[in-house]
Amino acid sequence: MRIALIAHDKKKDNMISLAIKYKDTLKDHELFATGTTGTLVMGETGLPIRRMKSGPLGGDQQIGSMVAEGKLDLIIFLRDPLTSQPHEPDVSALLRLCDVQSIPLATNQKSGEIMLEAVKSGLIK
Ligand code: PGA
Repeated sequence: MRIALIAHDKKKDNMISLAIKYKDTLKDHELFATGTTGTLVMGETGLPIRRMKSGPLGGDQQIGSMVAEGKLDLIIFLRDPLTSQPHEPDVSALLRLCDVQSIPLATNQKSGEIMLEAVKSGLIK
């Protein structure tokens, strides 16, 4: 599967924990991420990840364009609901496109774990 990982700043530690916990599952898939999230997850796990621009600099839109083109199968986007984001319009656009294209999207750590359990067990392909 083609999986994208995105985490807002206060959720980056959660994303790293998730990636470490599911490293064995993630290693069998093609991974994409926004810039900083990708750099951190690669550094902590050694997983190969294709990085887009940082989210506030257009990375969310790049991921969104991949969704629109049918180039992603699943997204884990750990959002920070308590901090305002300068690129909120890009975040909303990405979430909307996931719904348009019916792309599985997890927006918090628990739903991310459930999604990766589904990937691990072959429930989502
Ligand atoms: P980042 O972008 O991984 O480059 O921090 C994430 C975001 O804020 O959308």
